[in-house]
Amino acid sequence: MGLRTPEQFRSSLRDGRTVYHKGKRVEDVTTHPVLKVGVDSSAVDYELAENPETRELAVITPPHGEAYSRFFLPPRSPEDLLRRRKLAETGSRICFGFPPFAKEGGSDAVNAVAILAAHCDAANGTPYAQRLEAFRRYLQREDLSISITMTDVKGDRALRPSQQADPDLYVRKVRRVDGGMIVRGAKAHITTAPYTNEFCVLPTRAMAEADRDYAISFAIPANTRGIRIIARSGPWEEGLVDYPVANRAAMIEGLVIFDDVFVPDDRIFLEGEWQFAGPLAAMFANYHRVTAAAYKYPFAELLVGAAQLAAESNGIERVAHVRDKIAWLVMYSESILALSEAACLKAHQDPLTGLYYPDPVMGNAAKFFFADNYHQAVKAVQDIAGGIVATVPSEHDWNNPETRGDLEKYLAGSQKLSAEDRFKIIHLVKDLVASELGGFWEVTSLHAEGSLAAERLATYAHADMKRYRAAALRAVGLTSLTLSRETAATRSA
Ligand SMILES: Cc1cc2nc3c(=O)[nH]c(=O)nc-3n(C[C@H](O)[C@H](O)[C@H](O)COP(=O)(O)OP(=O)(O)OC[C@H]3O[C@@H](n4cnc5c(N)ncnc54)[C@H](O)[C@@H]3O)c2cc1C
Repeated sequence: MGLRTPEQFRSSLRDGRTVYHKGKRVEDVTTHPVLKVGVDSSAVDYELAENPETRELAVITPPHGEAYSRFFLPPRSPEDLLRRRKLAETGSRICFGFPPFAKEGGSDAVNAVAILAAHCDAANGTPYAQRLEAFRRYLQREDLSISITMTDVKGDRALRPSQQADPDLYVRKVRRVDGGMIVRGAKAHITTAPYTNEFCVLPTRAMAEADRDYAISFAIPANTRGIRIIARSGPWEEGLVDYPVANRAAMIEGLVIFDDVFVPDDRIFLEGEWQFAGPLAAMFANYHRVTAAAYKYPFAELLVGAAQLAAESNGIERVAHVRDKIAWLVMYSESILALSEAACLKAHQDPLTGLYYPDPVMGNAAKFFFADNYHQAVKAVQDIAGGIVATVPSEHDWNNPETRGDLEKYLAGSQKLSAEDRFKIIHLVKDLVASELGGFWEVTSLHAEGSLAAERLATYAHADMKRYRAAALRAVGLTSLTLSRETAATRSA
């Protein structure tokens, strides 16, 4: 089939899938007033392949065979990772900082499975790597959208999957049947779930032997019998002035329920090899945190621009503390770019598959830096814009002849700008940092792509501690530490 048009992507979603939104079954996600905003954002991944300006970045054209999406290229060099990063950034910029996410997260998952499946096969003689590569070719050929489907609902966080009172709180294999397995459970917060073609399911954490049935990975079409998707509600109220970003683009998450779903053998990439669950989750994070930093960079850029416009519209762009804050916002934004590019440039090659993956320390630092400073960035924008972002009347009042004159007169700011432009800028800032969308972004910055704790853990695990220790040891004139007499005695006993 080859590359699809945005319209072909949209029509593929009219496939009888089971989706709910705000208590109602959705007949057609492509025409639903809320879900449509997400569908149209996802379609941007397909538009990038058609647009002559972005086609070279978005499309791989092999010398023989059909062109396919760059997201489905197995990364064989740091340059491949850099180009993929750039593509994720480009899509997000078009969608005002929302990743289109038709392929971004799902292809990170495919890359991670490709590496761990090969390692599992080498250790256990399983056939997963060839299945995964056949699936990757299928994605290339059919140009499908695919969601990363990893986060389990998890129940009691202090308990392992097999220790939960309800055994279905992590997605699990219920039983093996002829030609496949039956799975049950639910995955939470799955971006694009209501309007994706495929789910790529991964374990969310390391597993112990008792969790064997939970150590599963597979891919499955979204309209498979037994799959139900409950979409999150949206913040969308009417008005392109009142909500200029929230109404122009979106990523919409869903709770994905697997109610005894049959997964055929050729779609299973892990089935009980529990030792590989943790490494698979970690490898996915290596790819995904860099992709995340790539698509968050345009959002940070938008925050800088909004702060600058707010300053100009209030006539305070030359004030020292305002410039300091905007300079900090610029550093914040550009550091996200620098760290995510560095993660690609310092990429590592998996010795078994030859595939490249981003440097885990740089990649985790990129995502962590974005998340840990996000609320600080919001604070700077809110500070500069003033209280009006919380109290501004709506565009309905602007359009009402009875109140328009009052708003034009009393919402005037800098003498250099029209009151109407200031009104629009105030609403932009409100939409970004003082609305339901603003709150959504605050939580999303912390949790999406893994919590701050997960990024710290990964950084510590991958840090070159030998090098750091050697630097400090050298400074005190040592090459290694000497054991105390008690420890030496215990060790030799
Ligand atoms: C907008 C958005 C989009 C997302 N998109 C996707 C997606 O497309 N696909 C996907 O798979 N996931 C997605 N996620 C999920 C995201 O990866 C998770 O939110 C994240 O991993 C945190 O998990 P949680 O939400 O269950 O929070 P929790 O795990 O409940 O974390 C809450 C706090 O508890 C701590 N905690 C939890 N368990 C433990 C423990 N055992 N020991 C110590 N501390 C613990 C955490 O560190 C954190 O501080 C998305 C999330 C958001 C908000």
